[in-house]
Amino acid sequence: MTTPTGPRLPRKLGEIGIPMTPLPAGTPVGDIAGALAADTLAPGVIIEASDGYRLLSRAAVDRVHNGPGTAGHRTAGELTGAGTLGLAADTDIDMAAEAALARPAADREEPVLVRWPDGRYGIAPIVDLLAAMAGRFARLSRTDPLTGLPISVEAGIGVSHADHHDVTVLMRRAAAAVRRAKHERTGVVEGTPRLHTNQRVDLRQLTELRAGLRSGHLRLHYQPLHDATTRRMHGAEALVRWQHPQRGLLPPGVFLPDAERSDVILELADWVLAEALHQAAVCHGSGLHLPVSVNLPPAYLAQDRAVDTILTLPNLAGVSASMLTVESTETAVLTRQELVAAQLAELRARGIRVAIDDFGTGYTSLGLLPALPIDELKIDRSFVIRMHDSPAHATIIESVIAIARSLGLTVVAEGVEDEPTAADLATAGVDLLQGFGLNRPHPPELIPTLPALPI
Ligand code: C2E
Ligand code: MG
Ligand code: MG
Repeated sequence: MTTPTGPRLPRKLGEIGIPMTPLPAGTPVGDIAGALAADTLAPGVIIEASDGYRLLSRAAVDRVHNGPGTAGHRTAGELTGAGTLGLAADTDIDMAAEAALARPAADREEPVLVRWPDGRYGIAPIVDLLAAMAGRFARLSRTDPLTGLPISVEAGIGVSHADHHDVTVLMRRAAAAVRRAKHERTGVVEGTPRLHTNQRVDLRQLTELRAGLRSGHLRLHYQPLHDATTRRMHGAEALVRWQHPQRGLLPPGVFLPDAERSDVILELADWVLAEALHQAAVCHGSGLHLPVSVNLPPAYLAQDRAVDTILTLPNLAGVSASMLTVESTETAVLTRQELVAAQLAELRARGIRVAIDDFGTGYTSLGLLPALPIDELKIDRSFVIRMHDSPAHATIIESVIAIARSLGLTVVAEGVEDEPTAADLATAGVDLLQGFGLNRPHPPELIPTLPALPI
């Protein structure tokens, strides 16, 4: 298979710097605290000093502003010491991260000042520098020369800010953040007191999510699946987002892990199923044939009512059962294998299609595949993304295609990010392609405008 590809990681500091207009040294600290409270994403501010520019991080401003007595009288200029690390925007990102981490412990939480050659200034948060480094670790993934098996390297980094005098408290927070980073595969998570005391579920966010679900704040975006040969759109996967009134459009990684540890996920899944089928009906009404794929959370099939509910919903929406594919993961199917297999078999008998999502990331032995009542295998994007730089990943993909085809299953490749990958997968015998290289997830109103609509 051809040229090495993969998602592009930031290489230069300027790519992660957030441009900011510097503030005069005389700006009162209270004003800065107010501005930071209004813009919760700003990592800090840039201050003009007589001899150049300095950074004031959010943590430094908070310390003074919330500290005893004096804040009202102080100006930004009085707070800025000499500690700012300023680097040119074209500094290599690994060097910038190393320079930032090499500073004395007290300065290490301070962001980095970025200078662009055109005279602009910006801030690069430490967390973003670490995330860029974590991405580079992932690039160390390779094939073991002895066994020929893929070795995947993923870094999970937990950050603890030096805002507590007790080092064991800080270490505990960092450990909680590492666990969260690993669990959610998000790279870097900042430790906060709340994450530590309540590390399993963010109850406040969960309560908000339940309310948001009931007041219509959830959205579905649709990512097309394309026929590998003709490239025409064959259907679409419904992917949930949360239109949060303050935080904007949130991806599922932010709220699903907590929701999955509570019953909110069941209500959410009912809504997703109903909404996706409604969308299929709307498309049908305007002459588009758009079968929809819906992700079923692992807990869904544990409910007695699961099969009845799923079978009723296409009827309610006025579309045929064959317009719905339910996606479940290997782990969910294998956890209570007999019960789940019976449920999936019943869904299939009534015309609903069943897919195994993220195939390759769980523990399915290929020998189990013939026993599973499924129609479709979706090869996980971690294999697809690496197929050009790792012969082992490419071989796994080829084997999965061969077995799936011999069982009469439809094979879908997820995470197709470029044309050479799409072309090679089509040649290798994949039936359907899904990925940013063909179409990103889009809100429903854009579906009719997408290229490669079905005939
Ligand atoms: P998934 O079911 O495997 O969905 C595909 C994910 O891969 C989507 O992320 C999609 O945006 C992303 N993706 C698609 N093409 C590419 C590509 O070319 N490159 C890369 N790097 N990524 C690509 P998203 O929307 O963030 O969803 C993440 C996961 O959250 C989904 O993975 C699924 O497990 C879960 N999820 C999403 N919506 C729902 C839902 O309605 N219900 C449930 N239970 N889970 C959902
Ligand atoms: Mg899926
Ligand atoms: Mg998937």
